[in-house]
Amino acid sequence: MDLSRRRRALTVAVALLLTAPSAACAQAADPVAGASESVRVDEVKAHLKALARIAEANGGTRAAGTPGYAAARDYLVARLREAGYTPQVQEFSVPYFREDKPAELTRLRPSERSYTPTGTDAGAEGDFTTMTYSGSGDVTARIGAVDADAPADGAASTSGCEPGDFAGFVRGEIALMRRGTCPFQTKAENAQKAGAAAVVIFNDGGEERTEAVAGTLGKPGEITVPVLGASAAVGAELARPGTTARIVTATTSDRRTTWNVLAETARGDADRVVMVGAHFDSVPEGPGINDNASGAAALLEVARHAEGLSVRNRVRFAWWGAEELGLLGSAHYVDALGADELAKVRLYLNHDMIASPNFVYGIYDGDDSDRTGEGPGPEGSARIEQVYADYFDAAGVPHQGSDFSGRSDYGPFIAKGIPAGGLFTGAEGRKTKAEAALFGGTAGRPYDACYHRACDTLDNINDEALAVNLRAMAHATLTFANAPSLPTPVRPTPTTP
Ligand SMILES: [Zn+2]
Repeated sequence: MDLSRRRRALTVAVALLLTAPSAACAQAADPVAGASESVRVDEVKAHLKALARIAEANGGTRAAGTPGYAAARDYLVARLREAGYTPQVQEFSVPYFREDKPAELTRLRPSERSYTPTGTDAGAEGDFTTMTYSGSGDVTARIGAVDADAPADGAASTSGCEPGDFAGFVRGEIALMRRGTCPFQTKAENAQKAGAAAVVIFNDGGEERTEAVAGTLGKPGEITVPVLGASAAVGAELARPGTTARIVTATTSDRRTTWNVLAETARGDADRVVMVGAHFDSVPEGPGINDNASGAAALLEVARHAEGLSVRNRVRFAWWGAEELGLLGSAHYVDALGADELAKVRLYLNHDMIASPNFVYGIYDGDDSDRTGEGPGPEGSARIEQVYADYFDAAGVPHQGSDFSGRSDYGPFIAKGIPAGGLFTGAEGRKTKAEAALFGGTAGRPYDACYHRACDTLDNINDEALAVNLRAMAHATLTFANAPSLPTPVRPTPTTP
């Protein structure tokens, strides 16, 4: 964003601070809802700075299983105690994987050539990757191709899928296999059983299948030898008879403890729970200030504000761990809750990335009116979308629907039939011309060019979006906190096989 645009954005933000919240919330029948004007964006910014400092002091990340996440959890718990809450820390374990140093792949014979690993920061395309949950090792050996030729009939390769493929394999060699038919995990397990010292699985060279294969071996601890994914070109080179190579990997592959943090209002009917959440972990590659310190810090400020209010319904705030590993914290919470407690949860509001630099104002599309594809949320989700939309409309701020794509913590709630909603300002997708006309910013550029990268720092926050969405969060939270009636979730009937 250039300077002139930034100045205009700040002017809009200041105008909103002065006028919008009272205008929006004055419409609510309950006077408590008007309190959303008192949430303070400077408090949110202070939390963002603290979380950025914590990441910086801990190797640049707050990812699940790292010291940065534990330090951030301590910060959150301390702030919640100060605000008058008795936070609950829910422990669970997650698979953990890290490359301790960049992997090496070098062909030694017939002639020496070293290949380039794909970088950990997005955008650097290399010749090979280290598969997630690969073992460690320093191996120099001959390449042993395992049924690795492309099938003549154009069918998918079954290279390494059956133990019989290894009939002629020499123990101690590097197993070279073509992608196809069975999971990478199966190929690697079969190779390890056959005595392979290391494994290379290369792309099959089909349309859009030439780059270095990036994959997972399923879970930590099973595969102890190095396993690389390679491009189709590297695979073809290594497949030549008489090839010798050296592979070096240094990985940590195990299970780690991580945590959700929960806090709820002392007041409100405990049988009618309004849940409001944001994930609290970052990816290993960066400090995650927009993704998702933005939502987590705003949630903390809304919680601070809600404490002590005479709310009608119980409000439960949740900061999820291990979202970036596949919604693991929210899934653990929902699974561990039990049917009786789950039945009290009447709706779930999610806030994941609420201050993207090239933002749109997205509200999860509860009624499926805006986009095709993903379908609506559970019964009641349309009403949630409308509560957020009312805030934006009263504040004179444009907004649009955002699909329930399954990429954030509403997923496990929706799966249980719990209505959901929330805010999202955009990730790696590119802003359209129509969106730029509506929201400003730059068409054709990502909403967040630093998504899942080391540059997701304090500079990656749009202050206008942060201020507007903080108030929209407070408005929606307090509206449902005081709603005389709440949606009654309809449990999905289990499908019979
Ligand atoms: Zn996120």
